[in-house]
Amino acid sequence: RYLSSRTTFKASDLQIEFCTPDQLKKKPAVSDLVFGRHFTDHMLEIYWDDKAGWGQPRITPFHDLRLHPAAKVLHYAVELFEGMKAFRGRDDEIRLFRPDKNMERMNRTAARSALPNFDGNELIEILKKLISIDQEWVPHAESSSLYIRPTMIGTEPTLGVQRPTNALLFVILSPVGPYFSSGFKPVSLLADPEFVRAWPGGCGMMKMGSNYGPTLAIQKIAEERGLQQVLWLFGPDHKITEVGAMNIMVFLDKGNGEKELVTPPLHGLILPGVTRDTLLTLGRQWGEFTVSERDITMAEVVQAESEGKLLEIFGAGTAAVVTPVGEIHYQGKVIKMPTLKPEESLAQRYFNTIKEIQYGHVSHEWSVPI
Ligand code: PMP
Repeated sequence: RYLSSRTTFKASDLQIEFCTPDQLKKKPAVSDLVFGRHFTDHMLEIYWDDKAGWGQPRITPFHDLRLHPAAKVLHYAVELFEGMKAFRGRDDEIRLFRPDKNMERMNRTAARSALPNFDGNELIEILKKLISIDQEWVPHAESSSLYIRPTMIGTEPTLGVQRPTNALLFVILSPVGPYFSSGFKPVSLLADPEFVRAWPGGCGMMKMGSNYGPTLAIQKIAEERGLQQVLWLFGPDHKITEVGAMNIMVFLDKGNGEKELVTPPLHGLILPGVTRDTLLTLGRQWGEFTVSERDITMAEVVQAESEGKLLEIFGAGTAAVVTPVGEIHYQGKVIKMPTLKPEESLAQRYFNTIKEIQYGHVSHEWSVPI
């Protein structure tokens, strides 16, 4: 019995229950798209049981979940998620961006969450099917895309603080516009060393819900001060780690015509972002500046700014691709970025390059048609 338990689900076992015409929802106008507020007509569910392994994947009409009130997810936050997107190209073809990276990260997070692993290629095939069923929900606009939220939860209905013997993997889809309502405009950050997002030996490098809930009250403090995001610092030397739910990039002038793009290394405190990896890979291919994965402290940022060597800081993530930082509020000081023309901005260049790949203006191995 144990030997026959299924260690992965299979796309070839997919069952589909289509919506009836009266279950189909009205699609919002592109101008009304608020991040994560609207959902498509269908969703995916796959159940897992410790003994039997994975069950059959099922695409069904979008519906509420029914959970036992003792389900482990509700008490011990046994939960993980991913965030990825599908883009409608100029040629009307719909493409995913580096979905294998999200599957690898999801499986890494599952292992650390005491949730089951699976074959990521099978989930990619099932996602393609789900998106093609709901393809009219992929916005017909290059400012917009379809956000994909794979999620896994521990559902076992017992209160013991133990590894769950039942789990549910589900995927929901949400058409989204630009992440920040202000568009490609610089954001202001609160950098307060009193608040820490992750620590050595912890789970900062995992995409589990329990990393995000505790950040929301700090985000509120930032907003009350009129700032948009939190810059997460760590350690007595105030290393910069991440900005909101994005990785951070600092572009420095090294003098004598040399430039350096710095991002913190993957030392367990930060999420290994797909966008982060994309920017580093492109930067190394361009070969025009040094690309460094190294620690960088607030003191270094402050000094670079005072010497006129701080060129740009920007966040990197799936939701917004890149988000330029305008200023950082840190220990009573405001560190301001120089104002750049769009053609001088590295963030803008990255944004344009990645958009061209995602929307199929150029063909690229990172872009995977559904
Ligand atoms: N850091 C954190 C904490 C995040 O939640 C995200 C979003 N997944 C990122 C960085 C960026 O990762 P990605 O480029 O894979 O979206």
